[in-house]
Amino acid sequence: MHPAVALAPLAIDPSAVQDVVVTHGHYDYIGNLELFANARIHMAEAEYRFWTSPIAGHVQFSFYAEESEIGQVRLAETEGRLKLFTGETAPAPGLRLAEVGGHTPGQAILYVPTSEGEVLLASDAVHFYEELERNMPFTFISDLPAMYEALATIREEIRERGLTVIPGHDPDVLTRFRACGALPAGAAITIGRHQTTPKETP
Ligand SMILES: [Zn+2]
Repeated sequence: MHPAVALAPLAIDPSAVQDVVVTHGHYDYIGNLELFANARIHMAEAEYRFWTSPIAGHVQFSFYAEESEIGQVRLAETEGRLKLFTGETAPAPGLRLAEVGGHTPGQAILYVPTSEGEVLLASDAVHFYEELERNMPFTFISDLPAMYEALATIREEIRERGLTVIPGHDPDVLTRFRACGALPAGAAITIGRHQTTPKETP
């Protein structure tokens, strides 16, 4: 499903979106940025520097990225819309975007407080639940020790805080969580509502 098609029933106009998180530069995470032409793009500085460096041209890396799509991030930089960070940042109130590396040099993960507890959008720090459960990093590796460290951190946070993890590629999320009714079956799930600081009610 094309993202523009998926966003329409959710009443999200991509050109009106103010912030987009790019967790890493792989083609399956970075396509269609041109739809969000007015948004700030949040990305780890290490990730951006890597994909705009000559080393990213080697086939083991370039196979997973599209020059034209990295070009959209360059364009955002030219237009003053690229927000690079190191370590951690808050792309919107209540959200926490943390750099963990491993899968790619600046792979990032996003913590979202919701009405049903804290949710971690793990992106490709965890492709499948199995990686967490069996301590088994995925086969695309930039830094293996960092991948193990990220898995250990996430497991600890599940234990300590009851974090709900959404892996980047596991179809089992469609059975573990309830369907998002606005979209066709199997297209999306929903977990609670994003919680920001409650507004004063009159
Ligand atoms: Zn990836």
